[in-house]
Amino acid sequence: MQLRLILGDQLNAGHSWYRERRDDVVYVLMEIRSEAGYVRHHAQKVLALFAAMRRFAAALQAAGHRVHYLRIGDAGNRHEFAANLGWLAAHYAADSLACQLADERRVDALLAALLQQLGLPLSVVDSEHFYTARDEVAALFGSKGWRMETFYRHMRQRHRVLLDAAGKPEGGQWNYDAANREPYRGEVALAPWPFAGHDLRALWQEIVDAGVQTLGEPQADALRWPLTRREARAWLADFIRQRLRHFGRYQDALVHGEAWLFHSGLSFALNTKMLSPQEVVHAAEAAWRSDPTLPLASVEGFIRQILGWREYVRGVYWARPDFGSVNALQHSRPLPRWFWDGDTGMACVAQAVRGSLQHAYAHHIQRLMVTGNIALLLGCHPDEVDAWYLGIYIDAFEWVEQPNTRGMSQWADGGFMASKPYVSGGAYLARMGDHCTHCRYTVKQKTGPQACPFNSLYWHFLARHEATLAANPRLAMPYASWRKMDAATRQALLAQADACIRNADTL
Ligand code: FAD
Repeated sequence: MQLRLILGDQLNAGHSWYRERRDDVVYVLMEIRSEAGYVRHHAQKVLALFAAMRRFAAALQAAGHRVHYLRIGDAGNRHEFAANLGWLAAHYAADSLACQLADERRVDALLAALLQQLGLPLSVVDSEHFYTARDEVAALFGSKGWRMETFYRHMRQRHRVLLDAAGKPEGGQWNYDAANREPYRGEVALAPWPFAGHDLRALWQEIVDAGVQTLGEPQADALRWPLTRREARAWLADFIRQRLRHFGRYQDALVHGEAWLFHSGLSFALNTKMLSPQEVVHAAEAAWRSDPTLPLASVEGFIRQILGWREYVRGVYWARPDFGSVNALQHSRPLPRWFWDGDTGMACVAQAVRGSLQHAYAHHIQRLMVTGNIALLLGCHPDEVDAWYLGIYIDAFEWVEQPNTRGMSQWADGGFMASKPYVSGGAYLARMGDHCTHCRYTVKQKTGPQACPFNSLYWHFLARHEATLAANPRLAMPYASWRKMDAATRQALLAQADACIRNADTL
């Protein structure tokens, strides 16, 4: 008998494991406290993962496979992989174990420990999800500059995505970012969000009873994330039909009171492998090929996120095992308390944090240029920032969260991923959205009690890291502006920012 372990983020119904029904194989899925508690997760993340796992197990059973499912409240559940597999192996008289390649180093180590502890042969198969193998991006770059754009072009050619008959990029360009990134001023109507509205109150009670500590709103009476492959396919179709058209144009927009805009919301379905990246990319390309009114810039921008960014950050994760501790800027401050309740006068930050607590979701520009930006400007310790991002988002798994947080957002890798830190003053946020009109602070003011904190903090960040950053050509302009300011102006900005940092909890 072989026990095959399926992890909560391995809900890939198309995996070759399931092509044949075998009486000598038992699939094992388990809801365990060690996984639910290695960081404080958002309530919806725990709920959605367990609910999706239960549905996946039921579908396997309905297809004739043997399944052993351990619920969080089951009496026999020992809440760790090894302990549970130990008794299950004895129960089924198993002579071997099998699992799919895990996506996180943490789980890799746990599985390696299993081998030692159980003394059964363990075979590891691919998860059959990603375009690239773990080490493929590293092999491509070697020690040369790890720029995403280089990798992305390679992927387009290799997988023949958005290429014309001569193998050239459709439309003549590889990247249409310049045509994207507009603020949203209501030019087109926002599409309603697909609403699954699952009633998961009974499951939520089981999670609470098991003592799992979470953050954010469970919304267990109407959880709106896709929990099966069928639902995920319906979300994908809805996105392609309603939002893909405007995705690129408003990719970076910030709108007060609006959590999703024209984003896809597909990251949970992708990261749990209910959807494959290939089918999402193909669906977007096929839509463009069959509908001449779909803007190429939008479709290319969307495909780049999945074929490019998603695979690239995974490559970085496996190439850089040290990423979990990098802190190039030596930042050391705690996250302000409003990261946990959104109770801050900065309207953009309040909305990003409150939306995250409410939906377990924020779109990319909120993560990068609002919460990430303010954490970086304040000099928060990357460990704290990392743990916050890993917990709060429904799509947060270390392989994708960590490079995005430490690398892209906090520049804790010293520029391995991003050629300059993603920091901005209030002007950028005002340009990309309308939060400033709802804000306690005044974006045009740089000093004084009403001044938008982003403004002085931006200059403080540049000044305190001058030795590290001033030679960066992409920062030549801001440093030139800084040097042009008179000493009194600079002094006032630094004093203002110092006060913001000292009183960060009350901003
Ligand atoms: P869309 O905007 O619709 O994009 C489509 C898809 O492209 C996403 O579903 C996602 O699979 C992929 N994608 C887009 N950008 C990225 C990126 N930078 N890296 C990897 N994939 C990308 N993404 C996660 O999946 N999990 C995380 O834990 C995560 N943490 C992040 C932390 C920070 C600080 C930042 C700046 C970004 C993070 N991202 C993370 C990337 C990105 O913000 C999310 O993938 C995206 O917001 C998910 O929403 P969506 O599905 O509506 O994406």
